[in-house]
Amino acid sequence: MQHLIHKIDAEFLVKALKSCFSKDFQKVALHEPTFSGKEWDSVKECLDTGWVSSAGKFVDQFELKLAEFTGVKRAVAVVNGTSALHASLKLAGVEAGDEVLVPTLTFVATANAVTYCGATPHFVDSEEKTLGVDPEKLRIWLTEIGEIRNGGFYNRKTGRRIKALIVVHVFGHPVDLDPISEFCSEMNITLIEDAAGALGSYYKGRHVGNRGKFSIVSFNGNKIITTGGGGAILTNDEEAGELAKHVTSTAKLPHPWLFEHDQVGFNYRMPNLNAALGCSQIEQLPRLVERQRNLAARYQKALSTVEGLAFFNEPEFAKSNFWLNALLLNEDQASRRDVLLSRLHDNGLGARPSWTLMHKLPMFRNNPRMDLTTAQNLESRLINIPSSAFLS
Ligand SMILES: *Cc1c(COP(=O)(O)O)cnc(C)c1O
Repeated sequence: MQHLIHKIDAEFLVKALKSCFSKDFQKVALHEPTFSGKEWDSVKECLDTGWVSSAGKFVDQFELKLAEFTGVKRAVAVVNGTSALHASLKLAGVEAGDEVLVPTLTFVATANAVTYCGATPHFVDSEEKTLGVDPEKLRIWLTEIGEIRNGGFYNRKTGRRIKALIVVHVFGHPVDLDPISEFCSEMNITLIEDAAGALGSYYKGRHVGNRGKFSIVSFNGNKIITTGGGGAILTNDEEAGELAKHVTSTAKLPHPWLFEHDQVGFNYRMPNLNAALGCSQIEQLPRLVERQRNLAARYQKALSTVEGLAFFNEPEFAKSNFWLNALLLNEDQASRRDVLLSRLHDNGLGARPSWTLMHKLPMFRNNPRMDLTTAQNLESRLINIPSSAFLS
C-alpha cells in the first residue's frame, strides 16, 4: 500500500542486469558479434584463392541463403544497410521533390537515404506497443493532410507527392504490418521495410521483410549477424530483384569483356570477402536468435524485481529476435535516465539512450511532421541494455 515515489536503485539495477549473464564479464558493450562457426575457413578461402573483391562464389551463395531464410523471392547483397535503403528508394521511384514518411524514432540512415534521393523525410509518430510506426495515428494524419490525385498521394499542405513510407522494425521488434500495408495500398504509398536489425524476427508467423515492395537488412558489426559491413535488399518481385542487382552493380550489361552500362548505376555490390563471412554467420542465425531470446527472457525476469521500470517485450503478434534489449522507465522516473546511464557505464555496462529523434537533428529540424508525442515520450524513458548473444 505504498504511494511514495521511489527512485530507481541504480546499484540494484546493475546487479539485476549482471545476474542475467552466463559469467562475470568485466566490461560488456551494447552489442558485439559472435563468431562460433566456420568464419576463419571461409575468409581464408577468399585469401587463398584471391577471390576477395567484386566476383566470387560467396556473394551468390549468401544471397540464396538469405532469400531462403527470410522467405523472399530475391535477396541482393550490398555494401551496407544505408546503400540498400538508397537503392530501394530509387527503385521504388522516389524522386527529387517527393516526400517519404519516416518514423522520427529511427537510426539516421533511414532519413539520410531519403535525402540522398533529393526527397524530404516527413516524420511520423511511434506506438508504445511496438516502438514502431503507429498505424492508427498515421492513417488519421494522412486522411487529414492528403489526397489522391493522378494516381498518387499528395500532401495538401506542401503540394508534394508522398511517394513512400519506410517502416522500421525498431531494435528488431516487428511493427504492426497488417494495418500499415492496408492503408498504403489504399493510398497508393509504396511500403518499404527497414528491417536493418530484424533478421530472425517474425510477424504473424512470417519473416519480416515480406510485405514491403522492398525491404532491407544490415550486417554491420553491431547487428545480429555481421559481414564486417554489409546489407541486403529483399523483395518478392523477381523483376524488381533483378533490377536491384543490376543497378547496385554499376548497371553493367553482362558480357565477357565489354564494359557497357545502360543507366547511371551504383557501385554498391558486396565484396566476396564480406559475403564469405556472411555465409558462415547466417548458418548460426537460428542459434543466435535463440540465445538473444534467452537473454531477453532472463532480463524480463530479473527486471520484474526492479521498481520503476519495465522490460520492453515483443507484441503478441510478433516473434522478435530481441537484437537490442530495451527497458522503459516509468514516466515519473524519466528524469533519472541520464543518471542511470552513467551508473551503468561506471559498472562496465554499455547502455545507451534511444537514437536522438530525427526531427531534433539540425538537418531535419524544419521537415514536415505530425504530432510526435509518443516518440518523444519513449525517447525520454528508453534505455538499451547490453544484448550480445554470447552473454546468455
Ligand atoms: C543499422 C541500421 C541501418 C543502417 O545500416 P548500415 O549497414 O549501418 O548502413 C539502418 N536503419 C536502422 C534502423 C539500423 O539500425
